[in-house]
Amino acid sequence: MITFEAVDAGHGDCILLRYHSGDGGIDPPHERILLIDAGPTTAKHMTPGAKSFRPLEHRLAPRLAAIKQERDGRPSTVEDHAGKATLKLGLVVCTHIDADHIDGVEQIYHCLAESLNCVPGMPQLEIGMLWFNSFSALLGDQVKILAKELDRTAEAVAVSVADGDDLTSSARTIHGDNINSREPGKLIAMGQVFDKAFGPAKITILNPDKTSLEKLRKEWKKKSKVAPAQGVPASVQSTNWLKADKTDKSIANLSSITMLVEHEGRKILLTGDQLGRDVLRSLKQSGLMSDADKTFHVDILKVPHHGAIGNNQRDFMSAVTADTYVFSAIGKDQNPDPPVVEFYAKLAKSGRKFTMAFTNGDLSYELEDGKPPELNGKPVVTLQQLIADLKAAHPKIRDNVTFTFRDKDKPSLVFELPKRG
Ligand SMILES: [Zn+2]
Repeated sequence: MITFEAVDAGHGDCILLRYHSGDGGIDPPHERILLIDAGPTTAKHMTPGAKSFRPLEHRLAPRLAAIKQERDGRPSTVEDHAGKATLKLGLVVCTHIDADHIDGVEQIYHCLAESLNCVPGMPQLEIGMLWFNSFSALLGDQVKILAKELDRTAEAVAVSVADGDDLTSSARTIHGDNINSREPGKLIAMGQVFDKAFGPAKITILNPDKTSLEKLRKEWKKKSKVAPAQGVPASVQSTNWLKADKTDKSIANLSSITMLVEHEGRKILLTGDQLGRDVLRSLKQSGLMSDADKTFHVDILKVPHHGAIGNNQRDFMSAVTADTYVFSAIGKDQNPDPPVVEFYAKLAKSGRKFTMAFTNGDLSYELEDGKPPELNGKPVVTLQQLIADLKAAHPKIRDNVTFTFRDKDKPSLVFELPKRG
């Protein structure tokens, strides 16, 4: 069995994967724990008067403490680490340098590097490996020089790069030169397959590809003289949004590490804030999809970029199908975009049954210029309103889609996938 958990990180991502290392592996038997991103420093619901919270302290720390407690209760024959003072995360992945993904990882490493237990409630951690592609590692000083020449958007990138430098520096204290260990050029990129290091799971890296990272770097340099590449606000509303080019061009987002995790016949696709279209292309280039294949089916799809329009292209949403679609969003930047939620839900018209899961089921949409987002000309104030409207308009959505939400009193949304076949 593999357990997938979307920890509530507000508008960011924080995902835990857990499975047993097995009896015949290189390590004594224990539960492997993988952490993918750790959310922003603070997050807040969009409803007026809502209090902000710290995802690391208020969600991830209690969850990891509970996982450690469960672990310590297991017999040492099945759990070699039972009773150890530390909780080992076999792998930590920082998908990209945006604050809503890197901040928590940066803080974890800062605490580890300084030998401080500085997140209240967090068990003492031990980390096996870090995967992290920072722009600073790719570009060196050029990032900083360029960033100074750029305008507001570029400053946002520069801040992220500073976060990336901080994380790199703390992580070096822990891992030495072994960040992204054993990888050529020390980057995690498309084409790499890890079928032993985290056995019995197999991890296939789909994005970023090195050529497109290099292309992006050049394009960024080129564009920086005129205007920096910009992420498209997820809120862009248009009746013909599927035709219009709303493609996310954020350099940070497009550098997201995306990976397919396979375990005992189950597939989990983690997409960070990547472009769906690029994930689809990588599935084809890496041979996971043939030209003849119309779809690629997974058990769980972490929907790209919190369900933003700019990252969920129609070809991707049609081709990559899932039993469970997970949206990590809180209404900020008007994510998940109502037309994206509608498009995924409408896939139920084929008769296929599936689940749409939300880390924050009670979300209110952020107002932009005083207005909520719209769907088909109608304002959408809350996710619950959107779902009710979709069910009322389309009987097949009502009959075939199960909508699930994180229990507000729990730190995460949990899916257990037992062995298949
Ligand atoms: Zn994000």
